[in-house]
Amino acid sequence: MCEVASDIASIARFLPITACPYDTHLSIIIHLLTEPTMSPKLVDLTQIIEPTRADAERKFVVNIHNALHEVEGKQRPAGEWYIMSDVELMNHVGTHIETPFHCLKDGADLSQISLDQLCGEAAILDLRNAEAEFGVTLEQVQAAAEAAGGIRRGDIVFGQMGNTRYFSTEGLRWIVEQGIKLMGVDSGGVELSHDTTHANVNHLLLFRAGIPLIENLANLDQLTQSRVQIYALPIPVRGLDAFPLRVVAVEG
Ligand SMILES: [Zn+2]
Repeated sequence: MCEVASDIASIARFLPITACPYDTHLSIIIHLLTEPTMSPKLVDLTQIIEPTRADAERKFVVNIHNALHEVEGKQRPAGEWYIMSDVELMNHVGTHIETPFHCLKDGADLSQISLDQLCGEAAILDLRNAEAEFGVTLEQVQAAAEAAGGIRRGDIVFGQMGNTRYFSTEGLRWIVEQGIKLMGVDSGGVELSHDTTHANVNHLLLFRAGIPLIENLANLDQLTQSRVQIYALPIPVRGLDAFPLRVVAVEG
């Protein structure tokens, strides 16, 4: 018997599970020895998408239509059916990811974003108290980054926004310069609200650097750590700029 097995066997002899066979003792002990003391906490950072009402603004529709007709004469017990649906969905509803193709004709679309870019460690920037007339300032961004333990090359960065729901171009440029791979906000976007030129200055700052943007994140206030593991997984659709996705944070 090897040393570890003999140790386990000697521990097993003192367990008060006399009715169990020896191999059950072993499996219990191995379970106790290998089970992590704290199981990771999953936090869903995704908004629930509700189908829109008939009087909803045309821009952000989510309509679900029946795609199958019931076979005539088919008997089904109460509570059962067999459905498939046609979904009319504006692709920027709810928590969604925007790829460079959103603003750049030759930018990467949903099918061209690698899993490496969508999963990894994220720094959560708490910008809830960052009041600024023209977008969260460079100084406010740097202070939030420092409080989060810094932004590292290859990080995902999520901004927890307050009343100032978007970034100044200087603040966002500094985040991009840290070498991040994915950006997210719990507001409706990062664009300059006072810019009426539709030049998409802030979007292009990200997209020209190959950085996708997640908008309308949810539940960032449920995170207890400023660095978390993120899994952000959109469906890879060729030729599409944006789509709703599920974003999950794992705290260990
Ligand atoms: Zn969008």
